Amino acid sequence: MDPLAFRSAARSFLAAELDRLRADFPGLPFTDPVLRRAFEDRVCRGGWSGLNWPKEAGGQALPIDLIAIFLEECARAGIPKGINLIGHGILAPTLLLHGSPEQKARFLPGILANTEIWCQGYSEPDAGSDLAALRTRAERDGDHYVVTGQKIWTSYAHLADWCFLLARTDPAAARHKGISFFLVDMKSPGITVRPIRQMDGQEEFNEVFFNRVRVPVDLRVGEENAGWAIAMAAASYERATYFIPRLVQMEQELADLVAVSREMIRDGRRVCDDPLVRDAFARLFVDVQALKLHARTMLAAAARHEQPGPEGSFIKLLWSESHQRLLDLALTVIGPEVLLGPHEPSAIRHRHWQRDHLWSRAETILAGTSEIQRNVVGERALGLPR
Ligand SMILES: Cc1cc2nc3c(=O)[nH]c(=O)nc-3n(C[C@H](O)[C@H](O)[C@H](O)COP(=O)(O)OP(=O)(O)OC[C@H]3O[C@@H](n4cnc5c(N)ncnc54)[C@H](O)[C@@H]3O)c2cc1C
Repeated sequence: MDPLAFRSAARSFLAAELDRLRADFPGLPFTDPVLRRAFEDRVCRGGWSGLNWPKEAGGQALPIDLIAIFLEECARAGIPKGINLIGHGILAPTLLLHGSPEQKARFLPGILANTEIWCQGYSEPDAGSDLAALRTRAERDGDHYVVTGQKIWTSYAHLADWCFLLARTDPAAARHKGISFFLVDMKSPGITVRPIRQMDGQEEFNEVFFNRVRVPVDLRVGEENAGWAIAMAAASYERATYFIPRLVQMEQELADLVAVSREMIRDGRRVCDDPLVRDAFARLFVDVQALKLHARTMLAAAARHEQPGPEGSFIKLLWSESHQRLLDLALTVIGPEVLLGPHEPSAIRHRHWQRDHLWSRAETILAGTSEIQRNVVGERALGLPR
């Protein structure tokens, strides 16, 4: 397909759907989950999901250039963040590699059409970075497992239909060896979800309690006690392809901030003429270009259905730390006016700079903290001693 025609089709589809969205949900912010779900549903129904999946799984097997174009157009249009990012970005590629034929047939169509929302149940109160310390148990009982334990920071669990989770199936085995990977119906009896309010005022993640939840044996992905390798594959997808749209968004934010700095006058001169601000912009520009090149390499590997390696950690690390610097800089450039927020008519370029600044604090924690990413890059990419 001609890339120009593809870009133009994506751009007009997204513009038309955004117009419809604004008309259908007048005044509702783009952070509202109902609106986010509605838009994501329309993107999927419009045939824009599973772009890099193989055709036999219902995907479109598009080449990397076209996928990058679609992600660029999404960021350029400023579409609302989806709520099934974990389903599309993490579980789908994991199932494509490790799921049984029955699991693929049962679950991939629901992700493709966005009819089933997924959450990821890994972290526990005493098992975050040290995930192998997890204590949630799954005990075999005939053709079921009985799952008991607590997860925390489970994004979208309050909206999710399904959860993929890690549970200990052999407490006597070495820490990484006694863990299995399960697909759990969130409507199962015994599941309690308690939302946690974040400092930006939203409630996106949750505590999830499992009290003797019965999970059919055929919803275990891979062999019993072999869940760790599958979880690590899923984690590397999270650190690679999952972050690519955010890089494109970051480039857009940087361009907007440069434009804002040209409009702002402080102490009688344009903020963009401040040498420290110019220096910070230059550094961010270099970071964005480096990230885009790495992202392209990652996309190419994903399009070949290769499992991303430790370099995904590098993308996650550089993106999250650069993005925090960008939003710190936004507060410096805009100053106290940032508090006016996007609903104030004089607010600068209608961005949620302050809310995004608060949210960005989470970016060096989620999907593995910066310290953990540095450990991975040092040990597995650079071959440094442990
Ligand atoms: C917005 C958000 C969404 C999330 N969504 C999900 C989700 O959907 N599902 C899910 O399962 N989890 C989710 N998480 C949880 C996330 O994966 C954990 O917060 C993360 O892995 C860190 O674990 P922890 O919070 O227990 O911190 P800890 O592991 O307790 O770490 C505390 C501090 O110690 C440092 N540290 C720990 N170990 C080492 C080490 N070996 N070397 C150097 N430093 C170290 C860490 O870097 C950190 O600074 C989410 C988190 C956030 C912020």
